[in-house]
Amino acid sequence: MGTNYDVEMNACSQCGRSDTIHFGKSSAGWRFTLHVTPELPDLEAWKRLLWTQTIRDEYGRKIEADYLLDLIRAKAHLLRDENATNDPGEMYDAITGTFS
Ligand SMILES: [Zn+2]
Repeated sequence: MGTNYDVEMNACSQCGRSDTIHFGKSSAGWRFTLHVTPELPDLEAWKRLLWTQTIRDEYGRKIEADYLLDLIRAKAHLLRDENATNDPGEMYDAITGTFS
């Protein structure tokens, strides 16, 4: 159980449609799992999008970037996913590929 977060990009001013990319997932008892790609390899790269684009949780609720970054920080001391590819010294777990 957990909550997935997505970022909406390239919103069309005509019809409102946009591309959605998976940002990551918050699960009870675990560090935040951040979805990383070659274009978005770490949280620093993602922040640019968080500040400028619309973030939504999987229930469609709009989420503030500050809220999400505070959540990631608050979960830094929790369990680390064994599939995480980043430096354990960072406050989140980076996961490549598709997950939810
Ligand atoms: Zn359109």
